[in-house]
Amino acid sequence: MEAERVLVTGGGGFLGSHLIDRLLDAGHEVLCVDNFFTGSRANVRHVLNHPRFELMRHDVTFPLYVEVDRIYNLACPASPIHYQRDPVQTIKTSVLGAINMLGLAKRLHIPILQASTSEVYGDPEVHPQTEEYWGKVNPIGIRSCYDEGKRAAETLFFDYHRQNGLDVKVIRIFNTYGPRMDMNDGRVVSNFIVQALRGEPITIYGDGNQTRSFCYVDDLIDGMIRLMGTEPGFTGPVNVGNPVEFTMKELAEAVIRLTGSASTIEYRPLPQDDPRQRKPDISLAGEKLGWEPHVPLEDGLKPTIDYFRSLVEA
Ligand code: NAD
Ligand code: UDP
Repeated sequence: MEAERVLVTGGGGFLGSHLIDRLLDAGHEVLCVDNFFTGSRANVRHVLNHPRFELMRHDVTFPLYVEVDRIYNLACPASPIHYQRDPVQTIKTSVLGAINMLGLAKRLHIPILQASTSEVYGDPEVHPQTEEYWGKVNPIGIRSCYDEGKRAAETLFFDYHRQNGLDVKVIRIFNTYGPRMDMNDGRVVSNFIVQALRGEPITIYGDGNQTRSFCYVDDLIDGMIRLMGTEPGFTGPVNVGNPVEFTMKELAEAVIRLTGSASTIEYRPLPQDDPRQRKPDISLAGEKLGWEPHVPLEDGLKPTIDYFRSLVEA
């Protein structure tokens, strides 16, 4: 592929920083835009001096005037603790951020990809979730700032596509994990690993029978780049995630085994609107992107545990 100048919003975050590595490796120039609400310079420290990398501190709720060839819009806090800390800012980031980035894509006539989420399915009544399913989302709960913000962003992407002929791509990301997740963002994989490494009790919310399907970051980024590479008429939405489903109890047991920890399990109340089960149907990603995940949970947990061990022991 021809080298391009690529804008990654939220590039200082977990997924954004891995995407940037892959884009730089492929020979592209990268403009990373981030307000560091949840991300950090540490995630991109290793590329700060790269000749094809540029970092701009900017909040996507404000317009952005730059010249680029394509946009990956990832800016948005992703973990419940972070997105519930300032819910108004969360929904503004999704909605105003989408409007600003779509406006930029429209002016430049360039493709734009939206990092959407399995949360658009809410607490699903359909299992596994296909892209046709419209979801069961509480519009007024504590997760709504994120779920409804992401749903409104999808609406905006499709309206810009219909109204302005914009080349949009919407990826619905299911739970993803790997090195550079924020240690304090409260997500289950980082919580369990850090608790295990510190010998603290592993906190399972509810009875631990709720399920999630965990995708290793390298697989996810591969799917995202493949979606961006599809022909202009293909918009998605496309589910990208690992369809192998685990209960939180099984995850806790795997983490204890792989870390060799003596941690015990402690049960805590289930947060409001916590989805009971989640698993992607990835047939569309297989058909349109030729994509499927390759990294089983144990193989992905190992480098993730090594990453957190380096932080915990630092
Ligand atoms: P993250 O919190 O690590 O990264 C998000 C980045 O966006 C951070 O660097 C943050 O500082 C930045 N940001 C937040 N608000 C901003 C604003 N107003 N202006 C500019 N930058 C802003 O989260 P992540 O896990 O890397 O998620 C990246 C994207 O993928 C998010 O849009 C998220 O909703 C989506 N997603 C992630 C997952 C997952 O499992 N990690 C699942 C579904 C969807
Ligand atoms: N969870 C848990 N213990 C923790 C953190 C999370 O049992 O210390 C549960 C949480 O209630 C949910 C699942 O793990 O059922 C996944 O939570 P996470 O916040 O990682 O992602 P999401 O709910 O957004 O899928």
